[in-house]
Amino acid sequence: MATSSTAPVSLPMPVIPRTRRTPAEIAAAAPVTGERKVYLAAPRGYCAGVDRAVIAVEKALEHYGAPVYVRKQIVHNLHVVSTLEARGAIFVEENEEVPEGALVVFSAHGVSPAVVKSAADRGLRTIDATCPLVTKVHKEAVRFAREDYEILLVGHEGHEEVEGTYGEAPEVTTIVNNPEEADTVQVKNPDKLIWLSQTTLSVDETMETVRRLRARFPNLQDPPSDDICYATTNRQAAIKAIAPQAELVIVVGSSNSSNSVRLVEVALEYGASAAYRVDYASEVDESWFEGVSSVGVTSGASVPEVLVRDVLSLLAEYGFANVEEVTTAEEDILFSLPKEIRAKLKEAGDDSRGLGGRIVKSDISS
Ligand code: SF4
Repeated sequence: MATSSTAPVSLPMPVIPRTRRTPAEIAAAAPVTGERKVYLAAPRGYCAGVDRAVIAVEKALEHYGAPVYVRKQIVHNLHVVSTLEARGAIFVEENEEVPEGALVVFSAHGVSPAVVKSAADRGLRTIDATCPLVTKVHKEAVRFAREDYEILLVGHEGHEEVEGTYGEAPEVTTIVNNPEEADTVQVKNPDKLIWLSQTTLSVDETMETVRRLRARFPNLQDPPSDDICYATTNRQAAIKAIAPQAELVIVVGSSNSSNSVRLVEVALEYGASAAYRVDYASEVDESWFEGVSSVGVTSGASVPEVLVRDVLSLLAEYGFANVEEVTTAEEDILFSLPKEIRAKLKEAGDDSRGLGGRIVKSDISS
């Protein structure tokens, strides 16, 4: 769900706003033998593309002043959006809601050429915070369309990223939502066919979709490199390692965050007895802890670490104070800021990020 300048946005909620059953009451309802333990997934939370997009809006507010318009949610996380909104960002659905000549930031999910054109037509000043890994897929779509390929875009119709990629070559692109659609999708030339994908899909489900496509179209070409991004892949690998030993998995992330929703599905698929997604610790239902001694915790790629810490604090209150971090990959990727922001920072002598290459920790994620 995106927000608009007129729609009210919920502000971050306190950790425990409602009456809960006490840890003693939960323990009495369903006794647990053995030590209670938390397995904390690593990597989790912010990816390089989200970090870049959020800092782009923060820097735009700092150097251009409020309001800064943002087309769609800058990243799919309620807390991030409401925090930026409180600082002066105005989230809109379409360019038509932005006053002519104003500054608008395009979100990390990317935009189609039609959106870029409509911004130019309105005389908007733009900052493109599209994740470079989404831009890579856009470029693949443009290149293969130019080479007369038909494109099967594996992804979820209606998702902003898919709308953007599809918009690069709509006349030759067909969206394939899931493995079942791979069995029925129609193509014009099965011998000049390539598949591309949304960056935040389930790795396993996408491979199944491609397997079924290839069974029908043996000459189907693979993308030049993986379209499902490193962050999606790494977060799924981490939860796969934890899920078999977790009676309960809690995924921190928003309902419109594709990669967060996928983490719930992957946790259940790989052996978690139960898995739930929450935006805030306050949404954790203490009845989930009944009879449970092991809890897995992770977060989607658009989730600030502070929200995970709130969940860990709540778990500690219920006896889950022993936290073991399970690390399946190390990440050190850092994207430079959008070129429009880099130019502005240079002009202002702001060497905090993108010029000297140092990481500036966002207030949101601290
Ligand atoms: S999830 Fe992947 S594609 Fe999306 S913003 Fe993060 S790094 Fe980029």
